[in-house]
Amino acid sequence: MAVPLPIDMGYVTDVLYRLLTTPSPTGHTGDVVRLCCAELERMGIPYELTRRGAIRADLKGVRSTPDRALVAHVDTLGAQVKMLKDNGRMELVPIGHWSSRFAEGARCTVLTDRGPWRGTILPLKASGHTFNKEVDSQPVTWQQVELRVDATVANRRDLEERGFNIGDIVSIDPQPEFLENGYIVSRHLDDKAGVAVMLGAAKAVVDAGAALPVDCHLLFTISEEVGSGASSILHQDVAEMVTIDNGTTAPRPEQQRVRRHHRHGRQHRPLRHGADPFADRAVPGAEHPAPARRLPLLPLRQRVRHRGRQRHPHGAGLLRHRRFARLRAHPRRRAGKPGAAAGAVPAKPAQGLRAGLRGRYRPVRLNSLQRGRYGGRRGTGPSSRTGSAG
Ligand SMILES: [Zn+2]
Repeated sequence: MAVPLPIDMGYVTDVLYRLLTTPSPTGHTGDVVRLCCAELERMGIPYELTRRGAIRADLKGVRSTPDRALVAHVDTLGAQVKMLKDNGRMELVPIGHWSSRFAEGARCTVLTDRGPWRGTILPLKASGHTFNKEVDSQPVTWQQVELRVDATVANRRDLEERGFNIGDIVSIDPQPEFLENGYIVSRHLDDKAGVAVMLGAAKAVVDAGAALPVDCHLLFTISEEVGSGASSILHQDVAEMVTIDNGTTAPRPEQQRVRRHHRHGRQHRPLRHGADPFADRAVPGAEHPAPARRLPLLPLRQRVRHRGRQRHPHGAGLLRHRRFARLRAHPRRRAGKPGAAAGAVPAKPAQGLRAGLRGRYRPVRLNSLQRGRYGGRRGTGPSSRTGSAG
């Protein structure tokens, strides 16, 4: 019987504050990665950095295989300079998917090659004194806002002279508030709260000297907001992975259906181990290749409790991956969907879960990247799904 380990909440909130106050829009994650590395070093947890700068840390288990993984992402939403405008302001594009509505009025920092500059994001028609009622009838798009830097700049040349460039990354102020009643409010709790929780859990394991049943990797990813997530750093031997990330509370008909479905099938719902980390829903009609192999299940009770949301608000990859992993595990859901291969999904499930799942996936087509990832397995039929990942 697993005994819950005490969590040092003082540590969790402290590290959360430090994470929140370290700007890390996707593409500018070096500082926050260094912070996480320092925390791991302090706890004596070995880690490695991937070539791109994500962190893979290792908590040793009694057994070394199959592995488990916890994932959280250190990158956040942000913006990037798209154009140096003739009026001395800058047009932006979002990093990740978020509305310019929430950028209006935000204080921010432009991370130029020559150092940071402070500024404000404002609508093109910001002043009621000047534009009267037009301030309330402006469309909401990123073309309708601009970044005004805290410096005397009248034109494009002034911006260039101060070192601003197209492509400069803009971090939005997090405005963290830790309230007396326990509420924590900030931009970028997605997913810095998840990172803090993961570090807190690791500290609990280390402090208690707890023996984990199998190796557990702590993955700190750096490009979740733009869609890669854990796909690029997942170990080959990971059989179970739990993503700690932001959950949203806006129900949609589709989500409600999925929720009902999960309630119904909770008892025996397997995780689709090794399911495709490349599945990209951003591409309409994109294929969702089935798992390259099936790994042994670990006892359900030992899994970290996780109430995964069904849809990432930023359209990021990892949670989609989890969601589709579930959908694939219940192929009946796909039967009526446009594009579902005829004959790939029997109308009625076979008896027993395993029997029900076997041979009921759509044939998949891997792109060249995925073929490389899955060890060069070229097959596109059902047989490839049980093939070795190499
Ligand atoms: Zn997130």
